[in-house]
Amino acid sequence: MADRYLSFTATGPGRFLTRRLGLPQPAALTRWSPERPALDGGLRHLTAGRSGLDLAPVLARTGIGPAGSGRAAAVVLDATGIRDVEGLAEVHAALHPVVRSVAAGGTSRSSAAESGGGRVVLLGAPLDPADHHQAAAQQALEGFTRSLGKEIGRGRTVNLVRLTDAPAAESTLRFLLSPKSAYVSGQVIEVGAGETGPGETAPDDEPAAPVDRDRPLAGRTALVTGAARGIGEAVAETLARDGARVVVLDVPQAGQDARRVADRLGGTALLLDITAADAGSRIAEALPDGLDLLIHNAGITRDRRLVNMPAERWMPVLEVNLASVLRTTDALLKAGTLNRGGRIVATASIAGIAGNAGQTNYGASKAGIVGLVRSLAPRALAEHGVTVNAVAPGFIETKMTAAVPLFIREAGRRMNSLAQGGLPVDVAETTAWLAHPASGAVNGQVVRVCGQSLLGA
Ligand code: NAD
Repeated sequence: MADRYLSFTATGPGRFLTRRLGLPQPAALTRWSPERPALDGGLRHLTAGRSGLDLAPVLARTGIGPAGSGRAAAVVLDATGIRDVEGLAEVHAALHPVVRSVAAGGTSRSSAAESGGGRVVLLGAPLDPADHHQAAAQQALEGFTRSLGKEIGRGRTVNLVRLTDAPAAESTLRFLLSPKSAYVSGQVIEVGAGETGPGETAPDDEPAAPVDRDRPLAGRTALVTGAARGIGEAVAETLARDGARVVVLDVPQAGQDARRVADRLGGTALLLDITAADAGSRIAEALPDGLDLLIHNAGITRDRRLVNMPAERWMPVLEVNLASVLRTTDALLKAGTLNRGGRIVATASIAGIAGNAGQTNYGASKAGIVGLVRSLAPRALAEHGVTVNAVAPGFIETKMTAAVPLFIREAGRRMNSLAQGGLPVDVAETTAWLAHPASGAVNGQVVRVCGQSLLGA
């Protein structure tokens, strides 16, 4: 399962050889740890166009100090004020001179220990349906972001946040400007104007400051499906780190692993098949005090090309990955089990966005998740005060991907801007950001955790 190529390019001879052969040079990424909770270095805040955002106090609260004249761990370009093509000249003028100074991740073990890849975050405005010049210029930022993400290399990431209100975007900026977002690149994230459902923060307020910054989910209960192993286990672990009480749901056959995970995290195991018709009511019964975070992670693959795919391989994938997500979500919302201020995070996949040969069933099920999120998100927020978002993992190093044949696995690992697979914790950190109490203005988003996969980018 280990990425031997990544280890090889981290050695002197490996680096020399792969460079001579023109092969990918993945940089070692730095993930969050208690010892390294922040990016290593300062932040450069630039503006293109006339911005109406009061960004400085929000950026000050991210915990990164201003960068000096040299290397910057992060560059934030506020381009919300750009309204026409002429304004795009300012994007070039602002970033062209500084892009080289964005910190690069190490390709050797020793330099990796010193720095992770830096962050470029562009801030844009929502597209104005009444002004096609503004819309063209703002949409241009998307193509710019994705192109820069593909060329900047060395573990550096580039993302675009569309926003109208700086405080509502604080949790998102904190995430993107931290080691927690190491494998998130080339994404466009829309943050609402703090429009809120009942129980959420009022629009003009600061986002509800978590009582405890280190444990923002304290007092919240999280249910993670398929959490006995893999990505689900990492999600449960990360939410527990952030203070949540976790319920580890998995099939009875995985009972031993589920109990081990639950015991380790001080949570409880709930053994049931999520496709059971009464799964929703059994979850509701097990949670008499309600649920705050519903994380739909359980998923299966039954790959085969459509010509060779019998119905027995088709339907189970749609049942586990999509139908059960719809059914349990409906049941728990209807029963009022999900508390106001709650969060639903479902798991899509880049296969549901780009498509993948041999995965018509899986691709269909994961695209269905995207449809579910986009349709339900505004209503769930208005009617229940609950946000609905999805994570869409790319190639993540798990037992699922270890079972992929060697050559396809190697291609999957390298075919992204960071030239390596992600780790379960990368999906977990993204989930924790969406689950954060201050992320109430992030709704209806599908965030890819794929190192900017070249598939469907
Ligand atoms: P995994 O196979 O390692 O773990 C999945 C877990 O779900 C297992 O513990 C399994 O027992 C459980 N599960 C399966 N069917 C269930 C059911 N009917 N009821 C309850 N639990 C059930 O998979 P993973 O790699 O950790 O993937 C987790 C999620 O991420 C899945 O939805 C998967 O489709 C998605 N995903 C993974 C990748 C990747 O690269 N690993 C990429 C894209 C999307």
